[in-house]
Order: sequence, then C-alpha cells, then structure tokens
Amino acid sequence: MTDMTAQKEKSHQKKMEKLKENIDASIESASLERGVCILLTGNGKGKTSSAFGMVMRALGYGHKVAVVQFIKGEQLSGEELYLRDQCPQVKFYQMGTGFTWDTQDRSGDIAAAEKTWAVAEEALADKQYDLVVLDELTYMLSFKYLDKQRVLNALQNRPFEQSLVVTGRGGGSELAELADTVSEVKEIKHAYNEGVMARKGVDF
Ligand code: ATP
Ligand code: MG
Repeated sequence: MTDMTAQKEKSHQKKMEKLKENIDASIESASLERGVCILLTGNGKGKTSSAFGMVMRALGYGHKVAVVQFIKGEQLSGEELYLRDQCPQVKFYQMGTGFTWDTQDRSGDIAAAEKTWAVAEEALADKQYDLVVLDELTYMLSFKYLDKQRVLNALQNRPFEQSLVVTGRGGGSELAELADTVSEVKEIKHAYNEGVMARKGVDF
C-alpha cells in the first residue's frame, strides 16, 4: 500500500467512525415508541409510490393496513388491482366515479369526498390498524371539500400506536405542523414534459 492510499484509508476510517458515533447517538436518544404521521408532499413524482412502499413494509410484518384514496376511480391503478385481487386483508377504498375534479359539480364532489372521509375516519378511530394511508387527501383540504379542523382532529386523535401517511401536493402549514415527518418530493424533471406517455405499472 502506498503512503497516499494508507492515508486515504485512515481518513475514510475516521469519517466512518464519526458517522457511526453520530448515528449511534441519535439511536440512543430516540426513546419514544409510538405511531408517526408522515406527510409526503411536493410537485415531483414519488409520493403515492412511496406510500405504497410503506404498505408493503407493513404487510411484511403482518400489520393491519387501510388505504383510502381521494382520487377519482375511472383509471384503475396497479396498486388498486393488486390490493383488491391479492391482498384481501388490506382495507382499500377509492373515492370512485362520483368525483369529477370539476367544480361544475361541486356538491357532487363534496358528497363523494365526505363519503370517502367517513371510511378514513373509521380507520383512524380503529386501533386495529397499524398503518393508514390517506392518498391525495391534501386536495380535499385545498379545495375545501372537507372541513379542515375536522380532518386535523381525526388525524391528531388517532390511536397512539397507529402510523399514518398522507400524500398530495400542498396540504397547508397546519397539516405539516401536525405531521412528525414531512418530505417534499421535488420535481427536477419528468418524462411527461418530454412527451412520454404515462406508463402502466410505473405511473399508474
Ligand atoms: P406516483 O403515484 O407516481 O408516486 P405522485 O403521487 O408523486 O406520483 P401525483 O401528483 O399523485 O404524484 O400524480 C400521479 C401521476 O402523475 C403519476 O402518473 C405521475 O407520474 C404523474 N406525475 C407526478 N408528478 C408529475 C410531474 N411533476 N409532472 C408530470 N406528471 C407527474
Ligand atoms: Mg399521488
């Protein structure tokens, strides 16, 4: 080994020791055991996919999972097909065709949102569920389809051990404050802007 390589090795080793020290210290200082609320927001691709990654993790441990999607149901997504056909143990509910994203039928949209929220609220009150995913919930708040305070209260008052993932752009500062973990997926670029069509199994 040359002197230079030996020096590099030593410096790398020192860096790793320091890193391990820091990680061990933060593991040591984490002493709370409770469910967490995770908000996945931002304008890049990856929020819903990340939430379903956690669904898979939870299922690996045999945890009980509920997924409620606040999106219109005309386009079947791969995750919906999979959960519906392969995971009967997962509670899955999608807002469905009543929703139009069209303010011309605002009262129809609100009715669909309320109906879906009732399913979410039930899961958030049931301590059997280890993980609840509320996919695209943020839009219900930004469109004012659901009462913000009612939603925040239900999220806050969920069972102590229950973890929760909320996805969607925006969501407001109160939701971000309530969450324990907030990650923003930032768009650097997206194939769609290059004219590439949304792809089965990747985008939906
Ligand atoms: P995904 O479901 O792929 O994880 P997401 O949940 O982060 O995406 P949404 O806003 O829910 O993002 O949009 C879902 C769909 O829109 C996906 O088909 C995704 O590829 C596409 N999409 C997400 N972000 C962008 C973007 N910045 N530009 C264009 N299309 C996007
Ligand atoms: Mg999404």
